[in-house]
Amino acid sequence: MEECIFCKIVAGDIPADIIYQDEYILAFRDISPQAPTHLQIIPKKHVPSLVEMEEVDFPITAEMVKAAGYLADKEGISKTGYRLVMNCGEHGGQAVRHLHMHLLGGCQLSNMLG
Ligand code: AMP
Ligand code: ZN
Repeated sequence: MEECIFCKIVAGDIPADIIYQDEYILAFRDISPQAPTHLQIIPKKHVPSLVEMEEVDFPITAEMVKAAGYLADKEGISKTGYRLVMNCGEHGGQAVRHLHMHLLGGCQLSNMLG
């Protein structure tokens, strides 16, 4: 996936502020943060979007949610709360075609639903 920017981050070909990784998951700070804490949690495997997931890929979403909980603790925002967002496709506002979960927190978030 030579053209995928998140695959390039996984491969170490472009720099990122990586704060967590395990066998399946990589997490790094968003380059254009929309909140005091704004992380990207992604599978190391290239999966383009939620609608293109195969049966075998679904367990990765559980790993992403698990990592989000760990990272929210690490960022000190578990008690105040946070938001997990997965944009999908054009109407969902997905710009990067590699599955990712935004972890946003550290301030009162606005109502972005819609
Ligand atoms: P989405 O609109 O849901 O596809 O979100 C893509 C997110 O990736 C945006 O919040 C971007 O700021 C972020 N992003 C794009 N390129 C990079 C990068 N090289 N490092 C960190 N975050 C990035
Ligand atoms: Zn990719």
